[in-house]
Amino acid sequence: MPIDLRMPPVPVSFEVYPPRSEAGVAALHETIRHLARVDPRFISVTYGAGGSTGGRSLELLTHILRETHIEPLAHLTCVGNTWAGAASLIREFLDAGITSFLALRGDPPEGLSEDDAFLGDLESAAQLVQLIDRVQAERAPYTEAPIPGVPGAVRVERRRSVDIAVAAFPNGHPRSRHASEHIDALLAKEAAGATLAISQLFFHADDYLGFVQRSRDSGVTLPILPGIMPVTSPTRLRRVLELTGEPLPAQLAIGLEIEPTSEGQHEFGVAYAAQLARDVVAGGAPGVHLYAFNNHDTVLAVLREAGILTHPRQKEAAR
Ligand code: FAD
Repeated sequence: MPIDLRMPPVPVSFEVYPPRSEAGVAALHETIRHLARVDPRFISVTYGAGGSTGGRSLELLTHILRETHIEPLAHLTCVGNTWAGAASLIREFLDAGITSFLALRGDPPEGLSEDDAFLGDLESAAQLVQLIDRVQAERAPYTEAPIPGVPGAVRVERRRSVDIAVAAFPNGHPRSRHASEHIDALLAKEAAGATLAISQLFFHADDYLGFVQRSRDSGVTLPILPGIMPVTSPTRLRRVLELTGEPLPAQLAIGLEIEPTSEGQHEFGVAYAAQLARDVVAGGAPGVHLYAFNNHDTVLAVLREAGILTHPRQKEAAR
């Protein structure tokens, strides 16, 4: 079904990760400037499980908060943390002005299994959702800012309450012991207070649409954003499948393999992701969340090709 271009713009959002080097910082700031120009609903920043990138995540989130008009959304993980440690981390993010979170369990550090790793006090993302909610509730419900030129006077404003998103897995979570356990986990996360789910990447629209239907049948009501990753080389595809355990998407794999040039592979990967975006939106997805890999060209090309950027300003920005 084609997208009806008369409909309001489809909400888009992006995921980036904290740069690993100083050189990457300037390039990422430039990428964020480009992404912000298409008015995404938010830009999310990943968090290294065990706190390995915590400081750099917060720096980047603060940059988005100060330098753009876009909502920064902070991924937070609970693996390896104590209740007190997780609470003080949440306070630090709230103090920096961050009010949107993606609450995640996280994975054990590489090389360690679920059994021998220190997994911390919090056992699931649902518990982290509750903790974020509790930490914000303990804070004063208002902020006070001095009024310049009026000694002793303050402007009192009601604090914005936090929005908490969680992860969802269209093809199941590798840790699930039975087919619907990840839907039970999603129900638990919604019951804990989550108001949005963002999906793991997938390569077939039916995987996402079928999962949303099964979730609705089980009582999940929160919006589930489809997470789409443009994969533009066979090497990247192999790495992504290794990391996520997703089944091999034959059409994409063959298409990338038979393209003789890297430009051709890039074009094929963009076209594949654009078709996926069109199909899920046509099937009722509430928006499109793109894994940007800290590069704006590819994700903006996907949105352009999918016909999702309908506002003239967005089209101009993505050119
Ligand atoms: P949970 O919802 O707690 O659990 C995952 C699965 O475990 C469930 O689906 C269910 O099958 C099972 N389970 C949960 N609770 C129970 C229970 N009580 N009993 C039995 N089984 C249970 N990782 C990072 O380290 N940093 C990131 O920034 C990051 N960003 C991500 C963004 C998205 C959109 C997604 C989809 C994943 C991201 N991850 C990230 C990966 C994530 O941390 C891992 O997939 C992790 O293994 C699961 O996290 P979760 O929040 O879904 O955990």
